[in-house]
Amino acid sequence: MKEINVLVTGAAGQIGYALLPRLASGETFGSDVLVNLRLVEIPQVVEKLTGTIMELEDCGFNTLGKVEAFSDIYEASKDVDWALLVGSIPRGITINGKKIEERGDLLKINGGIFTDQGKAIGENGKKDAKILVVGNPANTNALIGMIHANNSNQTWMAMTALDANRAKAQVAIKLNVAISEINQMIIWGNHSPTMYPDLENANINGKSVASLINDNDWIKNDFLETVQQRGKAIIDARGASSAASAANAAIETVKATLSPTEDGDCFSAAVISDGSYDIPKGIIYGFPLKTTTDGKIQIIQGLEINSYAKEKLEITTKELLEEKEAISEII
Ligand code: NDP
Repeated sequence: MKEINVLVTGAAGQIGYALLPRLASGETFGSDVLVNLRLVEIPQVVEKLTGTIMELEDCGFNTLGKVEAFSDIYEASKDVDWALLVGSIPRGITINGKKIEERGDLLKINGGIFTDQGKAIGENGKKDAKILVVGNPANTNALIGMIHANNSNQTWMAMTALDANRAKAQVAIKLNVAISEINQMIIWGNHSPTMYPDLENANINGKSVASLINDNDWIKNDFLETVQQRGKAIIDARGASSAASAANAAIETVKATLSPTEDGDCFSAAVISDGSYDIPKGIIYGFPLKTTTDGKIQIIQGLEINSYAKEKLEITTKELLEEKEAISEII
């Protein structure tokens, strides 16, 4: 059996709990791949992972390999093929008597975590490792990690697939169509309320979703706000942030990189900008992506961006440039 080493940080958290069985079950990497899991947690909670490991054993998956718990990211990163970086410090937490509310403070605190994680994965991970950052602020955390990994053969991504799924769900309800009929749902920019879900380029049987909906007011107001604020709406309703859907999006992102993307479709994730679509180089930005037949991840080129979309792309670009400025001391 082929073996794969998968590292998950924040493994004792909510998303981790929903994610781990699906990584180990064969659903993600296939029924012929043995998945070794490296579960990473901060020292204060690493003990909790003993329970997680027992549960994973009790699932009885044929595809579960060795499962280990770590609080040392350098040790955990040895020969990893995949790293799912879920753990990060949430807004509102009190550290040394100070409540962390400002995005700038949050960026710096998480910056320290992702500096180490980047170095560890860059030094110890497989040459062609893929890294998906889920922990927020995900795009900028991924940028910090990527810079400190300093390993150009590795691929760093930040998750925007949940935003794409949220957008698809709203379209499916509006048009009364199946989710599977909706293709090329792109989330441009930052995984934050400035993201831009693009209904002009999304299509059903090759027809633009925006033209099928034919209701600009709904698209520019109800739809946009519902997708951008969905995370908060779930917290308000559930009393906790989305975990099952976030884990699902992480699994879908991994799977999207494992087989070629069909023509006319894409998958959504944020990667380092190479200047495509006039987005400044050097920020991790949500683009339409495809996996090629030889397994490469590429930005899909040549899509049309109308003037309304351009304005939205500029807003989310500005936010990402400001985030980059806020962490300029550590990159
Ligand atoms: P969750 O597992 O619910 O969330 C983890 C991260 O994912 C947070 O940054 C959160 O951002 C983000 N996230 C949550 N929902 C979504 C979503 N819908 N889409 C995209 N991102 C999302 O948090 P828990 O508090 O349950 O668990 C976090 C764990 O991480 C803890 O066990 C903690 O100990 C651990 N941790 C581990 C570290 C490490 O391994 N080095 C470092 C820091 C923490 P947001 O806050 O914006 O919701």
